[in-house]
Amino acid sequence: MKAVVYYERASGAVEIRDVPIPAWGPDECLVKVKYCGICGTELHLYHGQLDLLANPPVILGHEWCGEVVEVGERVKGFRPGDRVVSETAAYTCGTCSYCRAGEYHLCPERLGFGYGVDGAFTAYVHARAVLLHPIPAEVSYEAAAMCEPICVAYNALFEKSRIRPGDTVVVIGPGPIGLFATQLARLAGAGTVIVTGTGKDRARLDLARQLGADYTVVVPDEDPVALIKRIGDGMGAHLVVDSAGTGPAVKQAIDLVRRNGQITKIGFALKPLNLTLDELVTRGVTLQGSFSHNWRTWEAVLELLRLGRIQTEPLLSAIMPITAWREAFEQLESQQAVKILLHPVD
Ligand SMILES: [Zn+2]
Ligand SMILES: [Zn+2]
Repeated sequence: MKAVVYYERASGAVEIRDVPIPAWGPDECLVKVKYCGICGTELHLYHGQLDLLANPPVILGHEWCGEVVEVGERVKGFRPGDRVVSETAAYTCGTCSYCRAGEYHLCPERLGFGYGVDGAFTAYVHARAVLLHPIPAEVSYEAAAMCEPICVAYNALFEKSRIRPGDTVVVIGPGPIGLFATQLARLAGAGTVIVTGTGKDRARLDLARQLGADYTVVVPDEDPVALIKRIGDGMGAHLVVDSAGTGPAVKQAIDLVRRNGQITKIGFALKPLNLTLDELVTRGVTLQGSFSHNWRTWEAVLELLRLGRIQTEPLLSAIMPITAWREAFEQLESQQAVKILLHPVD
């Protein structure tokens, strides 16, 4: 089968290779991939920016769904033909404190699909059955392939942060995770939702308004701090979700958050930040990271998708074969596209 492989720890070390269909273990299913979304993670890997995590040669891709074709002898509850979407923690130890408490996404030995072990920019993936969730009949494969970034946003907003009805929420960065965070903040009853981006993000900011943002701000041309002072008591946002991760984004988050407010960081900066955190102290602000997701979050997100409460179609820019991975990566880096799904080729 053809696969998009990150083959060594070097910038640009990605190519299509022919690889064998993998074997599956007694507790695993073999799944025929329907779609696999491209995430910022793959772009970082491509540029050699996540080499501490990467385990090349490895097939890229972690946002995937498909159809069960083979079932290991100890697997219960799945049959060939089942439509499934997979979590990303391909390997976890099962015995550490986090695994035992169901927080396996924080297992120190976690290996994710698409960097630690082979992912889904290919035709078949073997996966532990405990990672698989049945896709409800109401949910398309296209929507299911976007479950993962929705779960990232859900974990940040509801497992790590608290939103009360009426709260002012700022989302920095209108990529897929930011756009899903916008929708989830709305669902949670947020008062005013503001999404900020740069000049390159104008189309994505239009989408953010369509998906529930009250205001969008193009930085640095427009000043979100001036805007936030006009909202509610003028003291700032209850929650700032940083899905951009850059140094200026963190500085902006500190400027926008209210006293006793929360900043939840999802985006990677990849570089040291040249800024002081003293204001977090004097203003009693909580700054925290949010990573990945676990079973409970996936089930909640699938239920929201089943009920039609989260929109995925407006984010879907294109569906392309895995052989067009380079063109797809370029469209995402130039911000022409929001989310691209790849499908396998024979
Ligand atoms: Zn992702
Ligand atoms: Zn563990």
